[in-house]
Amino acid sequence: MFELPGLPYDYDALGKYISKDIMYLHHDKHHQAYVDKLNAALDAVPELRGTSLDDLLQNLTELPAQYKTAIRNNGGGHYNHALFWQWMSPDGGGQPTGEIAAQLNNKYGDFQSFVDEFTTKALSVFGSGWVWLQPDMEIIATANQDTPIMQGLEAPLLGLDVWEHAYYLDYKNKRDDYVKAWWNVVNWDFVASRFGE
Ligand code: MN
Repeated sequence: MFELPGLPYDYDALGKYISKDIMYLHHDKHHQAYVDKLNAALDAVPELRGTSLDDLLQNLTELPAQYKTAIRNNGGGHYNHALFWQWMSPDGGGQPTGEIAAQLNNKYGDFQSFVDEFTTKALSVFGSGWVWLQPDMEIIATANQDTPIMQGLEAPLLGLDVWEHAYYLDYKNKRDDYVKAWWNVVNWDFVASRFGE
Protein backbone atom coordinates (compact mmCIF):
# COMPACT_ATOMS: atom_id res chain seq x y z
CA MET A 1 0.00 0.00 0.00
CA PHE A 2 1.22 3.45 -0.86
CA GLU A 3 1.06 6.12 1.82
CA LEU A 4 0.75 9.87 1.81
CA PRO A 5 4.14 11.32 2.76
CA GLY A 6 4.06 14.09 5.34
CA LEU A 7 4.85 17.63 4.31
CA PRO A 8 8.49 18.41 5.07
CA TYR A 9 7.38 21.73 6.67
CA ASP A 10 4.28 23.24 8.28
CA TYR A 11 1.19 24.00 6.21
CA ASP A 12 1.77 27.73 6.67
CA ALA A 13 5.54 27.59 6.06
CA LEU A 14 5.41 28.97 2.53
CA GLY A 15 3.78 32.11 3.89
CA LYS A 16 2.47 34.65 1.47
CA TYR A 17 3.57 32.70 -1.60
CA ILE A 18 1.36 29.64 -1.11
CA SER A 19 -1.15 29.78 1.70
CA LYS A 20 -1.82 27.34 4.50
CA ASP A 21 -5.30 26.75 3.03
CA ILE A 22 -3.89 25.71 -0.33
CA MET A 23 -1.21 23.53 1.19
CA TYR A 24 -3.74 21.75 3.38
CA LEU A 25 -6.22 21.18 0.57
CA HIS A 26 -3.57 20.22 -1.94
CA HIS A 27 -1.70 17.81 0.33
CA ASP A 28 -4.35 16.38 2.64
CA LYS A 29 -7.18 16.19 0.11
CA HIS A 30 -5.84 16.07 -3.44
CA HIS A 31 -2.66 14.09 -2.84
CA GLN A 32 -4.43 11.81 -0.37
CA ALA A 33 -7.06 11.09 -3.01
CA TYR A 34 -4.41 10.06 -5.54
CA VAL A 35 -2.88 7.70 -2.98
CA ASP A 36 -6.25 6.23 -2.05
CA LYS A 37 -7.36 5.70 -5.64
CA LEU A 38 -3.99 4.22 -6.60
CA ASN A 39 -4.29 1.75 -3.72
CA ALA A 40 -7.87 0.94 -4.71
CA ALA A 41 -6.80 0.20 -8.28
CA LEU A 42 -3.90 -1.98 -7.12
CA ASP A 43 -6.17 -3.79 -4.70
CA ALA A 44 -7.95 -5.21 -7.71
CA VAL A 45 -4.71 -6.49 -9.27
CA PRO A 46 -2.97 -8.68 -6.68
CA GLU A 47 -0.14 -9.60 -9.06
CA LEU A 48 1.01 -5.97 -8.99
CA ARG A 49 1.28 -5.89 -5.22
CA GLY A 50 4.78 -4.89 -4.14
CA THR A 51 5.64 -3.31 -7.49
CA SER A 52 7.41 0.01 -7.03
CA LEU A 53 5.77 3.20 -8.21
CA ASP A 54 8.59 3.81 -10.68
CA ASP A 55 8.10 0.33 -12.15
CA LEU A 56 4.36 0.84 -12.50
CA LEU A 57 4.75 4.20 -14.24
CA GLN A 58 7.58 3.07 -16.51
CA ASN A 59 5.60 0.06 -17.70
CA LEU A 60 2.08 1.39 -18.12
CA THR A 61 1.59 -0.43 -21.40
CA GLU A 62 1.94 -3.76 -19.61
CA LEU A 63 -0.78 -3.03 -17.07
CA PRO A 64 -4.22 -4.64 -17.33
CA ALA A 65 -6.29 -2.44 -19.63
CA GLN A 66 -9.12 -1.85 -17.18
CA TYR A 67 -6.79 -0.47 -14.47
CA LYS A 68 -4.30 1.34 -16.68
CA THR A 69 -5.99 4.73 -16.62
CA ALA A 70 -6.52 4.67 -12.86
CA ILE A 71 -2.89 3.73 -12.23
CA ARG A 72 -1.64 6.27 -14.75
CA ASN A 73 -3.65 9.15 -13.29
CA ASN A 74 -3.38 8.33 -9.61
CA GLY A 75 0.09 6.80 -9.68
CA GLY A 76 1.29 9.82 -11.60
CA GLY A 77 -0.50 12.07 -9.15
CA HIS A 78 1.18 10.38 -6.20
CA TYR A 79 4.62 10.43 -7.84
CA ASN A 80 4.39 14.08 -8.89
CA HIS A 81 3.07 15.42 -5.61
CA ALA A 82 5.49 13.44 -3.44
CA LEU A 83 8.22 15.34 -5.27
CA PHE A 84 6.40 18.64 -5.45
CA TRP A 85 6.36 19.14 -1.66
CA GLN A 86 10.12 18.67 -1.62
CA TRP A 87 10.63 21.09 -4.51
CA MET A 88 9.39 23.85 -2.25
CA SER A 89 10.84 25.13 1.00
CA PRO A 90 10.42 28.10 3.32
CA ASP A 91 14.18 28.51 2.81
CA GLY A 92 13.84 28.31 -0.97
CA GLY A 93 14.05 30.84 -3.75
CA GLY A 94 17.10 32.57 -5.09
CA GLN A 95 19.26 30.86 -7.65
CA PRO A 96 20.96 27.51 -7.93
CA THR A 97 24.72 27.27 -7.58
CA GLY A 98 27.35 24.81 -8.76
CA GLU A 99 26.93 22.44 -11.67
CA ILE A 100 23.18 23.07 -12.11
CA ALA A 101 23.76 26.79 -12.43
CA ALA A 102 26.56 26.20 -14.91
CA GLN A 103 24.42 23.92 -17.07
CA LEU A 104 21.43 26.28 -16.99
CA ASN A 105 23.66 29.18 -17.98
CA ASN A 106 25.16 27.09 -20.74
CA LYS A 107 21.74 26.19 -22.12
CA TYR A 108 19.76 29.39 -21.53
CA GLY A 109 22.39 32.10 -21.29
CA ASP A 110 21.58 33.14 -17.76
CA PHE A 111 19.30 32.16 -14.89
CA GLN A 112 16.62 34.73 -15.67
CA SER A 113 16.32 33.49 -19.23
CA PHE A 114 15.75 29.97 -17.90
CA VAL A 115 13.09 31.29 -15.50
CA ASP A 116 11.41 33.14 -18.35
CA GLU A 117 11.35 30.09 -20.59
CA PHE A 118 10.07 27.77 -17.85
CA THR A 119 7.40 30.34 -16.97
CA THR A 120 6.31 30.68 -20.59
CA LYS A 121 5.97 26.90 -20.77
CA ALA A 122 3.94 26.87 -17.54
CA LEU A 123 1.56 29.48 -18.89
CA SER A 124 1.17 27.63 -22.19
CA VAL A 125 -0.18 24.44 -20.61
CA PHE A 126 -3.84 24.29 -21.61
CA GLY A 127 -5.91 22.89 -18.77
CA SER A 128 -4.21 20.78 -16.13
CA GLY A 129 -0.64 19.62 -16.20
CA TRP A 130 2.94 20.03 -15.11
CA VAL A 131 6.13 21.66 -16.32
CA TRP A 132 9.49 19.99 -15.81
CA LEU A 133 13.20 20.67 -15.92
CA GLN A 134 14.88 17.51 -17.09
CA PRO A 135 18.47 16.40 -16.34
CA ASP A 136 19.45 17.36 -19.90
CA MET A 137 18.23 20.90 -19.04
CA GLU A 138 15.26 20.63 -21.43
CA ILE A 139 11.98 22.16 -20.26
CA ILE A 140 8.97 20.00 -21.06
CA ALA A 141 5.29 19.90 -20.16
CA THR A 142 2.93 17.00 -19.54
CA ALA A 143 -0.86 16.90 -19.38
CA ASN A 144 -2.93 15.81 -16.41
CA GLN A 145 -0.82 13.78 -13.95
CA ASP A 146 1.49 12.37 -16.58
CA THR A 147 5.13 12.41 -15.58
CA PRO A 148 8.35 12.20 -17.61
CA ILE A 149 9.25 8.65 -16.57
CA MET A 150 6.00 7.43 -18.17
CA GLN A 151 7.41 8.62 -21.48
CA GLY A 152 10.72 6.82 -21.13
CA LEU A 153 12.44 10.01 -20.04
CA GLU A 154 14.60 10.49 -16.99
CA ALA A 155 13.15 11.56 -13.67
CA PRO A 156 12.75 15.33 -13.55
CA LEU A 157 15.05 17.64 -11.61
CA LEU A 158 12.27 20.13 -10.92
CA GLY A 159 8.54 20.27 -11.53
CA LEU A 160 5.72 22.75 -11.20
CA ASP A 161 2.08 21.82 -10.73
CA VAL A 162 -0.10 24.09 -12.86
CA TRP A 163 -3.43 22.46 -12.04
CA GLU A 164 -5.90 25.08 -10.82
CA HIS A 165 -6.16 23.22 -7.51
CA ALA A 166 -2.54 24.28 -6.87
CA TYR A 167 -3.29 28.00 -6.93
CA TYR A 168 -6.96 28.89 -7.35
CA LEU A 169 -7.69 29.66 -3.69
CA ASP A 170 -4.89 32.24 -3.57
CA TYR A 171 -4.57 33.40 -7.13
CA LYS A 172 -7.92 32.64 -8.74
CA ASN A 173 -7.38 32.49 -12.49
CA LYS A 174 -4.00 34.28 -12.33
CA ARG A 175 -1.66 31.42 -13.08
CA ASP A 176 1.05 33.93 -13.97
CA ASP A 177 1.00 35.40 -10.44
CA TYR A 178 1.21 31.90 -8.95
CA VAL A 179 4.18 30.94 -11.09
CA LYS A 180 5.92 34.21 -10.27
CA ALA A 181 5.40 33.61 -6.54
CA TRP A 182 6.50 29.97 -6.77
CA TRP A 183 10.04 30.89 -7.78
CA ASN A 184 10.42 32.35 -4.27
CA VAL A 185 10.02 28.94 -2.67
CA VAL A 186 11.89 26.67 -5.09
CA ASN A 187 14.18 24.36 -3.14
CA TRP A 188 17.35 24.46 -5.24
CA ASP A 189 19.19 22.28 -2.73
CA PHE A 190 16.74 19.46 -3.48
CA VAL A 191 17.08 20.07 -7.22
CA ALA A 192 20.86 19.85 -6.86
CA SER A 193 20.61 16.64 -4.86
CA ARG A 194 18.52 15.07 -7.64
CA PHE A 195 21.01 16.23 -10.24
CA GLY A 196 23.77 14.51 -8.29
CA GLU A 197 21.91 11.20 -8.16
MN1 MN B 1 -1.65 19.12 -7.58
